[in-house]
Amino acid sequence: MIALCDEQRCTAAGCVPTLCTGAGLASNVEVFDRSCRAIPGGVNSSIRAFKAVGGSPYVVARAQGPYVWDVEGTRYIDLVQSYGAVILGHAHPAITAAVAAAAADGTSFGAPTPREMKLAEAIGERVPSCERVRLMNSGTEATSTAVRLARGVTGRDVIVTFNGNFHGATDALLAAGGSGVATLGLPGTAGIPNATVANTMVVPYNVVPQLDERVAAVIVEPVAANMGVVAPAPGFLAGLRAECDRVGALLIFDEVITGFRLGTGGAQAKYDIRADITCFGKVIGGGLPIGAIGGAAAVMEELTPLGKVFQSGTLAGNPIATAAGLAALDLLTDDVYMELLARTRRLAGVLRDACSSAGLVAQFPVVGTLLGMYLGDGDLPTNFDEAKTTDEAAFAALFQGGLRERLAFAPGAYEAIFVGLGHDDAVIDEIAVAAHAAAVHAVAALG
Ligand SMILES: *Cc1c(COP(=O)(O)O)cnc(C)c1O
Repeated sequence: MIALCDEQRCTAAGCVPTLCTGAGLASNVEVFDRSCRAIPGGVNSSIRAFKAVGGSPYVVARAQGPYVWDVEGTRYIDLVQSYGAVILGHAHPAITAAVAAAAADGTSFGAPTPREMKLAEAIGERVPSCERVRLMNSGTEATSTAVRLARGVTGRDVIVTFNGNFHGATDALLAAGGSGVATLGLPGTAGIPNATVANTMVVPYNVVPQLDERVAAVIVEPVAANMGVVAPAPGFLAGLRAECDRVGALLIFDEVITGFRLGTGGAQAKYDIRADITCFGKVIGGGLPIGAIGGAAAVMEELTPLGKVFQSGTLAGNPIATAAGLAALDLLTDDVYMELLARTRRLAGVLRDACSSAGLVAQFPVVGTLLGMYLGDGDLPTNFDEAKTTDEAAFAALFQGGLRERLAFAPGAYEAIFVGLGHDDAVIDEIAVAAHAAAVHAVAALG
């Protein structure tokens, strides 16, 4: 484990390396320690615990634009941005106003509302394949509903998924590929019976698998953004579309990250492919809990109450989440995406220079407004086996160097770097300085 600085903070639970923050009002370690006694591992989403990078997480007290502040009052430039959910930057005035206004009218009713109608319309207007949209509470709900719907519509069981793609904590999709080319899935975690993934086939990304009539659906991240950022190879997505059509399987695009990040039409517009079912999350909630699936009317109307595939959710279509999502989509015009694209490219260049001038081998692949990190030389990864050749120790060192310089990357070597409207030129200038110093620390720590 790489220490963040020379200090250690010791509590009843033991000693941990800590941030060099000077005297704060509260300590991250004390708060996190207490969280650990109430919450398993102290976190409500596993990656937040810093297991992949070592040390104890900073505990966020508040955030604004490109910055987060921890409970000690330390300000970080934030490249996590809630894993892409807050594309406008933290506490954007349009979002906070929409949330406040919606909250004043009541937070949940158990009845239809105008805002859910408007958000479903807004998604459908921007993504033409989404003639009907059903809203829910998370990306995980979206992917699990999409799988159920595809199986219900086709009357088939097999789902094809790609090694290294991530679709949330959905049992049927938490399958691990074997070492063979196309293997029926093995459970990707404890708690999943073999039977649950027996109909999940895990195949390598960027190779069009040969399907047969048992396949209900292929689910894919159209740009893979959970194994670093890996672009679809030319012809890959079109090949999936054609192969699904050949055997009558549905094509599910998991656009939980790419949706409303790559542009108003997401990956489907960028690559000119129409998915049968599209999963959304993250950006469409403006930073509040949300998920959605969309598709052709004939497919979507197989959902209850019209069809035979059950779906429900007490808080689904929530008035506050839909208000925030609408406010976000309203602001995300084509001009804004052009601006984000320019910033993403500039940030990639800045990070590249920061690492190379420090002697740290690092590449920063850009796919539209998505930015990844690969700590290796040679060709960029095209699939998970290649992505796993990233130098995880070097990532951990760069991550820790970043924290010392008050620059927060997501705490995992396979996470994307999320650029938002908060990262203007002045902030990218700040990142340039911090990232260079971080890379120098990393090189020193790696010896
Ligand atoms: C984050 C993510 C999910 C899961 O969304 P949650 O809201 O965390 O449940 C699904 N698919 C992809 C591609 C994601 O990045």
